[in-house]
Amino acid sequence: MMNCRKVESLVTDYLDGVVEGITRLRFELHLRICPSCSRYVSKVQKLIEALGRLPANEPVSSEKIAKLQRIAAKSADFGGDPERSPQS
Ligand SMILES: [Zn+2]
Repeated sequence: MMNCRKVESLVTDYLDGVVEGITRLRFELHLRICPSCSRYVSKVQKLIEALGRLPANEPVSSEKIAKLQRIAAKSADFGGDPERSPQS
C-alpha cells in the first residue's frame, strides 16, 4: 500500500502525467481511501493551474512546483487535521 509520504512525493509527477502503470493505480487507489491526500492533490493541481494562468510565458519548472508543493503541504496541514473541519 502506498503511504501518504509517497503520494506527496509523486503528486507533481502524477499531475504531469508521467506516473504510469501500477504506480499510478496505487496512487489513485490511495486518493480514494485518503481524503487528506485527495485534498492535497487537488490543491496542488489548483496551484499549478494558477501558475499556468500567470502572464509570464516561461514554463513552470519542477523546482517551482516543488516549492509550491511544500507551501501547499504546510497550508493544508498535510497528514494532520483536515482543513478546519471540526470532525473528531
Ligand atoms: Zn494519504
